[in-house]
Amino acid sequence: MPKLSCPYCNKTGLSLLRKFNISPSSSIKCKNCGRYIGIPSGKFIIASSIMSIFIALSIIFSSIYIFLIGCIISLILHLEWVPIVKKAPPSHHPLRKSKLITVLKANNSAQLTVAKSLLESAGIPCVAKGEMTQKVVSAGQIGTRFHLATGPIELQVISDSAIQAQEILKEIIDDNLANQMT
Ligand SMILES: [Zn+2]
Repeated sequence: MPKLSCPYCNKTGLSLLRKFNISPSSSIKCKNCGRYIGIPSGKFIIASSIMSIFIALSIIFSSIYIFLIGCIISLILHLEWVPIVKKAPPSHHPLRKSKLITVLKANNSAQLTVAKSLLESAGIPCVAKGEMTQKVVSAGQIGTRFHLATGPIELQVISDSAIQAQEILKEIIDDNLANQMT
């Protein structure tokens, strides 16, 4: 019997296809009790490595049979040997956990794109507050400027990287301030 039973309720927690599609980093809800379950990374990696070995061997010996044997062994391992374990609920976006600081109020989408790519290339994760609202009302956009009702999009970073982000975006921030004066 393939190992599909939920460690919480001991009933079939997920379908065969679903088990084959989940990765160790993901957690999914048991279809019976709704609690989070998944597969352990250790056994998953072993089962996947065995597949890679067979792929390598099939290339070395240019044999499709070795490849097919590898597929079958790996499939059996994934289904019969890799168990279903209890998992923590999926974690939310890392940015949600920390305090967010607005580092830029972008006047248009081009500016937002530039600022985002500057921060991302510096390794600072950022989110645009109000971007979703902007998309919803995009029919009301005037050119590339944002809808007047919702105002500019605020680009936010976690508080730890706020100062660094402001330094990176200094030119854009200064430009915007200068524009506001005139
Ligand atoms: Zn369950």
